[in-house]
Amino acid sequence: MGSDCLFCRIVAGEIPATVVRETSTTLAFRDIDPKAPVHVLVVPKEHYVDVATLGQGDPVLAGEVLATAAAVAEDEGLLGDGFRLMFNTGAYGGQEVFHVHAHVLGGAPLGPMLTRSLG
Ligand code: AMP
Repeated sequence: MGSDCLFCRIVAGEIPATVVRETSTTLAFRDIDPKAPVHVLVVPKEHYVDVATLGQGDPVLAGEVLATAAAVAEDEGLLGDGFRLMFNTGAYGGQEVFHVHAHVLGGAPLGPMLTRSLG
């Protein structure tokens, strides 16, 4: 995918990010606009648009993203009180960056998953 994709460019080191964990296949870095005291994004280094294409296209890599997210949660001290792992997907899911990423959110009570304002 390369130069058109923001997170591919972060993986390539072309755009700076605060990296908290790296494996041969995944990268975890702090969200630039955190929505919780801890807000880390975990991406596969290989470009997949969303969690649906990743999960169906390479379930092993999807598992590696989950393993990195769990390690980040442990490193950030989130395992005791809990945390939220979230993949926004597509237009209705509110996805803004089309390189699959897990949001690791925690460090405070996060409230209900959704508020019921939907039709
Ligand atoms: P989503 O809405 O699920 O696609 O989430 C995209 C996330 O990427 C948002 O939480 C943004 O704050 C975050 N983001 C956008 N640009 C950057 C960046 N350069 N470095 C880190 N996080 C970013």
